[in-house]
Amino acid sequence: MDVSMGVNGEVDLVLRSTRVVTLDGTRPASVAVAGGTIAAVLPHDAEVPAGARLEDVGDHVVLPGLVDTHVHVNDPGRTEWEGFWTATRAAAAGGITTLLDMPLNSLPPTTTVEHLRVKRDVARPKAHVDVGFWGGALPDNVKDLRPLHEAGVFGFKCFLSPSGVDEFPRLDQDQLAASLAEITGFGGLMIVHAEDPHHLDAAPGGSSTRYADFLASRPRDAENTAVGNLIAQARRLGARVHVLHLSSADALPLIAAARSEGVRVTVETCPHFLTLTAEEVPDGATEFKCCPPIRETANQDALWQGLADGVIDCVVSDHSPSTADLKTPDFSTAWGGISSLQLGLSAVWTEARRRGHTLDDVARWMSTAPAALAGLDRKGAVEAGRDADFAVLAPDETFTVDPALLHHRNRVTAYAGRTLYGVVTSTWLRGVRIADRGRPAAPSGRLLERNK
Ligand SMILES: [Zn+2]
Repeated sequence: MDVSMGVNGEVDLVLRSTRVVTLDGTRPASVAVAGGTIAAVLPHDAEVPAGARLEDVGDHVVLPGLVDTHVHVNDPGRTEWEGFWTATRAAAAGGITTLLDMPLNSLPPTTTVEHLRVKRDVARPKAHVDVGFWGGALPDNVKDLRPLHEAGVFGFKCFLSPSGVDEFPRLDQDQLAASLAEITGFGGLMIVHAEDPHHLDAAPGGSSTRYADFLASRPRDAENTAVGNLIAQARRLGARVHVLHLSSADALPLIAAARSEGVRVTVETCPHFLTLTAEEVPDGATEFKCCPPIRETANQDALWQGLADGVIDCVVSDHSPSTADLKTPDFSTAWGGISSLQLGLSAVWTEARRRGHTLDDVARWMSTAPAALAGLDRKGAVEAGRDADFAVLAPDETFTVDPALLHHRNRVTAYAGRTLYGVVTSTWLRGVRIADRGRPAAPSGRLLERNK
């Protein structure tokens, strides 16, 4: 083939490395880019076409740009918690090239087409990476779901337990069934915060600065029951569902069994569940609070086994920040959410390498699988025809997390002081360098819509 021409015109960039992560494994390659699209993945020593710029990153690893399908940007309305400017800068610095924004914690929430329009207008000029939106399923907005789907949201989020904000009420089982039936009618996807409210109500609660008390208030049974009920509804209605931020590894056999019978259920977990443990959380350290919670070491081992077995599909951040004053020392009232947008790749890689996993695995969990979940067929792999989105990683370099170097609006982080492997040396979006050694460039992200 004539490699000087791609589908989008002449090759203008060649990204070369001895370690390019492709769907067929990691190998030396030269990735030819034309007009922001990958034109070809060529041998390492391929001739650079006339007029193309060569970017040789040596033995740094070229990964597909990460796709983070679980980010709470909170903009507009709670922009002091986070915003599209700060969140997408943090994403770019951390190797993420696409993020999908959750429908809640912003005001308005993304629960009508008009609200989606407001969100898109706010995000457009601030996006340093590509940004798409999930819609929200509430007890009273079933009529809004199809219009939101047609307007390009990637699916719908619901809560089965209280969400933490009044404007985003939970669904009971009848309301879940009604929303699932509607969504299934147009071939959509429901993504679910799966904790059962009755199990949470029955658990011991109350004010405490001890992590063990908080953990007891969010038992594994709450997750296991909610996941079981969700699978039953998905089976009955033929619905496609996705379990968000799984913490309880006890639910994995349920999910594996349901899938083997053909129930359409996928599942994600998060960097904090894979890298932090309940045993190490100091008293009053509510930067570690999230719901469902970080659990014990043995549970974490079982989550890693779930990844190794292929039961867990995706690893995404659930970046859900707040202002520092809401992280009070009382676990029962502190805001629940962990910030890791800029750090997720390094945190997961640090633990993955210790457990014998490869960067091919990390790319699958953090890019290929989340892209597939959302139907983003131009994202998620270094392959001809996809967007030229890359995260370039120095996998053996280490750094110590200094909150001052984070681009998150609020620099409260459970990872402060940790030494992590894997420095993101550059991030590329459609062939343009959008971050260099942690320094973001000018915004060049686009707003994405579900493939129609
Ligand atoms: Zn979340």
